[in-house]
Amino acid sequence: MKDKPFAITLNPGSSLANRTGSWRTERPQYVDLMPPCNHACPAGENIQQWLYHAEDGGYEAAWRQIMQDNPLPAIMGRVCYRPCETACNRSQLDAAVGINSVERYLGDEAIRQGWTVPVTAADTGKRVLIVGAGPSGLSAAYHLRLLGHEVTLRDTAVWAGGMMRYGIPAYRLPRDVLDAEVGRILAMGVAWEGGRQVTDIEAAMADGEFDAAFIAVGAQKGKRAYVPAGDSAKILDAVTLLHNMEDAHPPQLGRRVAIYGGGNTAMDAARTARRLGATDAVVVYRRTREKMPAHDVEVEEATDEGVRMMWLSTIARAGEGKLVIEKMKLDDSGFPQPTGEFTELDADTVVLALGQEAELSLLDGMSGVTITDGVVQVGSDLMTGRAGIFAGGDMVPAERTVTVAIGHGKRAAHSINAWLTRDQDGNVAGSAAPAGTAAAAGPRLATAERLNTWYYADAPATVRPQLDAARRITTFDEVTGGLDESTAQFEARRCLSCGNCFECDNCYGVCPDNAVVKLGSGRRYEIDLDYCKGCGICAAECPCGAIDMVPERI
Ligand SMILES: Cc1cc2nc3c(=O)[nH]c(=O)nc-3n(C[C@H](O)[C@H](O)[C@H](O)COP(=O)(O)OP(=O)(O)OC[C@H]3O[C@@H](n4cnc5c(N)ncnc54)[C@H](O)[C@@H]3O)c2cc1C
Ligand code: SF4
Ligand code: SF4
Ligand code: SF4
Repeated sequence: MKDKPFAITLNPGSSLANRTGSWRTERPQYVDLMPPCNHACPAGENIQQWLYHAEDGGYEAAWRQIMQDNPLPAIMGRVCYRPCETACNRSQLDAAVGINSVERYLGDEAIRQGWTVPVTAADTGKRVLIVGAGPSGLSAAYHLRLLGHEVTLRDTAVWAGGMMRYGIPAYRLPRDVLDAEVGRILAMGVAWEGGRQVTDIEAAMADGEFDAAFIAVGAQKGKRAYVPAGDSAKILDAVTLLHNMEDAHPPQLGRRVAIYGGGNTAMDAARTARRLGATDAVVVYRRTREKMPAHDVEVEEATDEGVRMMWLSTIARAGEGKLVIEKMKLDDSGFPQPTGEFTELDADTVVLALGQEAELSLLDGMSGVTITDGVVQVGSDLMTGRAGIFAGGDMVPAERTVTVAIGHGKRAAHSINAWLTRDQDGNVAGSAAPAGTAAAAGPRLATAERLNTWYYADAPATVRPQLDAARRITTFDEVTGGLDESTAQFEARRCLSCGNCFECDNCYGVCPDNAVVKLGSGRRYEIDLDYCKGCGICAAECPCGAIDMVPERI
């Protein structure tokens, strides 16, 4: 059959005489970029992908996608400080996608539905000891089990969870949620040994014939500051206070409680004091609000619950029922300096919330292991200076958060796996970082400038419900509520799919030469270079920046 000479048709290639591809100086190229949310998540979650599943109601698929990286989504959906949302491009349009609320919905749904992750890998016969059942140790245990290793998880505490149980209060992380996610990991064939402190790691490894160890003992010891105090002054540290909240009899603090420090732990201690009946809980902090390390949301919630803040103040002396407070001022470099001005503050108890340090005596005398500034030095694979002994979480130099600890657990598990499966010459197969994570991708970021935001509909962020402030201080019930199915799905749909094609057909529709070829659902598109004249309209009109224009090779 003869070709029609001047056919106007939507089929590329219908006019062999009109191969506009020869005019081109640039060609479009489909790309897959790293979304900034994925890049910012310390657990290395593929957020964009699980939001994509959730948009269509594929909640189980979405949850399973999260579980490839992070085994504690219901917990993360409550306590993560959400660096992903800070990085989210949607914040340039209206407000960041509520990634964390959707994550919580998925985590809670998994608990409701009883979803589990099967261990399908064959047993490797290798034995790994994990010391510390906080988020880092639990995450390592989970990933090591999925890789087929035998895992023993040992902790001084009777119950697993670390600071998630003995630090973060129940009004932020209900214990049934914690128990459900921790229990799911332990049920994957992890040998759990609660109530067993490790005092000498080498001896423990030799006794149990372990092939490798991951140490994640956290930073459990509250720092003490010297506060001149009379015999009758009641002083305790915040970590002890919060730890004792898990006992049958909560601590007695009295009606007036001063909390010394300006971090998140200080806020948790103050809010706990209010719930224990303190009518006056006062945070005494030596610098200003702007210099305070506590997150804004923690400060706001504490203030809503009636916690008072005394900025630019230190405790000069503590006596029975009274503190002497010295006013401070900031010098030119922002450091607080004493002023010699004093006031008094009524307080039955002083709670020191001055940070935590790691207790590392289990490593005493071990050659090769370096401890600097109270933390253990590790390589990028999280191995200490001692072959086969890895460490992560709060006890190594890094930001001290649950998500960072979870990310370390995953990274350590893959490093341990690589180390255990090395060949006889010591060559390690594969990379320590699993594919698809920020660390592995060497990422090119999908920046906000690449987006055509006018293509997206207005969609204000969904706000999570909050317990009434008056009710909060009489109970340890959870303060922040979750989304329901429709609001979680709405929130997931707010995602702009930054830097990765979501098959909107725009490029296909706008190409004047019909040079975009549709490959079918899930298979995306390709450019028919015989007909693409390199005008760049497809790249300019792609909502999510998934097309580059690259110079034509001449
Ligand atoms: C009050 C408070 C509130 C916090 N709130 C948040 C929050 O909202 N969001 C957030 O992201 N982060 C928060 N953090 C920080 C977060 O809890 C930690 O960064 C995180 O728990 C560190 O995890 P990890 O696994 O390294 O150690 P940990 O959680 O500290 O766990 C260490 C475990 O090791 C065990 N252990 C210690 N020594 C030994 C030994 N010799 N033998 C056997 N077992 C041992 C301990 O019993 C413990 O169970 C908070 C911290 C505190 C103190
Ligand atoms: S773990 Fe934290 S940073 Fe990662 S997706 Fe969840 S909320 Fe975001
Ligand atoms: S819009 Fe979606 S893909 Fe883009 S940064 Fe936010 S959550 Fe990630
Ligand atoms: S315009 Fe739409 S279909 Fe084309 S690459 Fe961009 S997102 Fe994908």
